[in-house]
Amino acid sequence: MAELSLQHIDKIYDNNVQAVFDFNLDVKDGELIVLVGPSGCGKSTTLRMVAGLEDISKGHLYLDGKDITQVPAKDRDMAMVFQNYALYGHMTIYENMAFSLTLRKENPNVIHKKVLAAAEILGLTSQLNKKPNQLSGGQRQRVAMGRSIVRSPKVFLFDEPLSNLDAKLRGATRREILLLHKRLQATMLYVTHDQTEALTLADRIVCMSMGHVQQVGTPLELYDAPANIFVASFIGLPPMNLFDAKVEGDKLVLQQGQGYQVALTDQEKQLLAPYQGKVIVLGVRPEDIEEGAGLPVTISNNENLGMNTLAYGNIGGPNGAKICAKLKGWVGHQHGDQLQFAIKRKHLFDKETTNAIR
Ligand code: ADP
Repeated sequence: MAELSLQHIDKIYDNNVQAVFDFNLDVKDGELIVLVGPSGCGKSTTLRMVAGLEDISKGHLYLDGKDITQVPAKDRDMAMVFQNYALYGHMTIYENMAFSLTLRKENPNVIHKKVLAAAEILGLTSQLNKKPNQLSGGQRQRVAMGRSIVRSPKVFLFDEPLSNLDAKLRGATRREILLLHKRLQATMLYVTHDQTEALTLADRIVCMSMGHVQQVGTPLELYDAPANIFVASFIGLPPMNLFDAKVEGDKLVLQQGQGYQVALTDQEKQLLAPYQGKVIVLGVRPEDIEEGAGLPVTISNNENLGMNTLAYGNIGGPNGAKICAKLKGWVGHQHGDQLQFAIKRKHLFDKETTNAIR
């Protein structure tokens, strides 16, 4: 069992920079939590506080109900996998994986069994006699994971483990981590700035900005019902289109350009009743736009991705608001083409609080 609980955790560095504000999270046994957000938002600091590599300035950390806020890193029964692997170049893969157990003076037979079992899980059995520099980046990252597995820690901590790999290998290694999680059923905390990694790996995502948790939820919850404009624009690729729009009767009137109108559904009308005459923020995901009667758009450029085409343009003329649509299939629009875009689904945000209007 490994349940983690972070309660009202703050981090203030010695130079008085506050990196984390009132972080609260209960991690269930066997859950894979991904902390995601842009660079500098406090993800690594949070992970390092959990690992015991940084002091917790305020608040408490519990592991299976026990307060471990003051427990040193080496006694926390957690293993961390870093982005730069940190393998010992002069040791074989076997020795690298066995290292922490050898240090602990474990029985050599036990060490042998654990290293072989981890190598088997990670597909490294045939690499055990090699040195790290004879392995690819992806294999080295697997050795780094193997080093954690042999310790059978209560909690696995990953700090951007894929960021040194090329795009193809990142995808493959991501799927391996997912399989590893299924197989080990271990509690894992995983830090990344990459929203794709967060969406594809997490049981639950914690989305952070400037030291503050913005939303905690399943990938679908964050994608489908983002709590505020920050989460809405951070989760999803290409990012959600955002427009200032005035609520006028049963329509939204876009503020940039020539006052183009978007019709509201009955439910949206109800939600927006308190906002009559006010400007809100309309969010539209590129994938929620299709060609059809709606906003007039002048195409600026097209990106064909094979299955989809990203069509970029401006609403009305060149001075209208920018818009990106993810259209199905290979569409050959040209610069200057005039189209109509229909909006299939809207997200509505309060312009002042930036929170979703629900
Ligand atoms: P992330 O992992 O999201 O990129 P970090 O947790 O590394 O963010 O950093 C969060 C904030 O804390 C940043 O403003 C960063 O500059 C600051 N910071 C990180 N480490 C230190 C440190 N050792 N001393 C002072 N400030 C730090």
